[in-house]
Amino acid sequence: MSKARTNSPDIAALVLDWYDRHHRKLPWRSPPGMPAPEPYRVWLSEVMLQQTTVPAVKPYFEKFLKLWPSVHDLAHAPVEQVMEAWAGLGYYARARNLHKCAKAVSEQHGGTFPGSAAGLLELPGIGPYTAAAIAAIAFDEPAAVLDGNIERVLARLFAVETPLPQARTELRKLAAQVTPQKRPGDFAQGMMDLGATICTPKSPDCLLCPLQARCEGFRRGIAETLPRKAAKAARPVRHTIAFLLQRNDDGAVLLRRRPPTGLLGGMLEVPSAPWRDTPWASVEALQHAPAQTDWLMLNGDAVHVFTHFELRIGAMLGRVGAREAAKLDGQWQQPQEAALPTVMKKMLGLLPSADIKLTKSRRGDRARS
Ligand code: SF4
Repeated sequence: MSKARTNSPDIAALVLDWYDRHHRKLPWRSPPGMPAPEPYRVWLSEVMLQQTTVPAVKPYFEKFLKLWPSVHDLAHAPVEQVMEAWAGLGYYARARNLHKCAKAVSEQHGGTFPGSAAGLLELPGIGPYTAAAIAAIAFDEPAAVLDGNIERVLARLFAVETPLPQARTELRKLAAQVTPQKRPGDFAQGMMDLGATICTPKSPDCLLCPLQARCEGFRRGIAETLPRKAAKAARPVRHTIAFLLQRNDDGAVLLRRRPPTGLLGGMLEVPSAPWRDTPWASVEALQHAPAQTDWLMLNGDAVHVFTHFELRIGAMLGRVGAREAAKLDGQWQQPQEAALPTVMKKMLGLLPSADIKLTKSRRGDRARS
């Protein structure tokens, strides 16, 4: 890496100048150079943006602000309501921690977020990245912010060839080196925008980039290959059968609430056979059906990819009358109205659109396919 080409104050000035002219207008932001946005908005958006894209986050951010305009409002909301409002954003532990964090800020800090990265790190669900981002954007602390976009820009700018995640220590140092004392929040957001709009993972638009003359990756013609990534282990596959149980008179489906901890903890679910490494035979899966009725194995299937495994989903359709339905544990909701995690929506997506006649195949008996 050439020191002359990667002079830090120069880099900050170039990014800030570009950000002033080309920043993305996002609902949680203040325009460049204006007073910082409320910490509550910055925190909410940063937690939502972890592992999720800006377009996916926007409607959720607006919904949350409407439902809970302040951290006190969010702290006083029942956690189930928060989880339901979060449904579809994924990584549900974030929603539980969001609620815990709101309670901590409301009850232990009088509704005011701590004004430094070190203080923010003490709160539930706030890791080093989120603490640095909130401190920089809401409190103007020159904290080194390093999200996926910034990692990519820095790896290319300084031609860091060590693969991720090992490269992170070096990238953190480089982030600290280039972060200016003045306008650190705008600088962090400028780097995020640069990564999202110009220095994109594939085909970076180097000709439009304000850092091109300083970019070592560009000079060496290796920018697009950076950041390098350590080879990933193959993602294991698990299997399940979803039980789509409909109420005869109105087509509502049976949903249950998952246990509060663990994967998708506290969220509504479609009842299903345990998620395991081997495929299910229908007879065997029926031992886990939520009701004794006639079940039909459906032809379609679905796949959902979690961070650590891939879930392959088959489905069985059953129907019960209102009297039987009232005896079952869970709640009945219209399929299109239920606030569900994406994997559960995929299960409901296997419901046939046309009416299907069910044949006799009671729990424990063979289901027809
Ligand atoms: Fe990224 Fe190209 Fe800009 Fe370098 S010059 S920071 S590779 S867009």
